[in-house]
Amino acid sequence: MATSRECPSCALEYEDTGDLKQCPYCGYEFPQRRSSVQWVAWLLALLLLWPAVKGLMMLFG
Ligand SMILES: [Zn+2]
Repeated sequence: MATSRECPSCALEYEDTGDLKQCPYCGYEFPQRRSSVQWVAWLLALLLLWPAVKGLMMLFG
């Protein structure tokens, strides 16, 4: 599904079809999410959530 997004470089709205790699107006290359970055993000989220998980375990355990 295409969604309307705003280019961070020229501030023009474009239709994001999901596989668009650069702005159709100014040619700005959108930063691509690499799998390794996503993996680190998940790890960080897990580390941040861990105290909350531990707290819940202490409440119910
Ligand atoms: Zn642009």
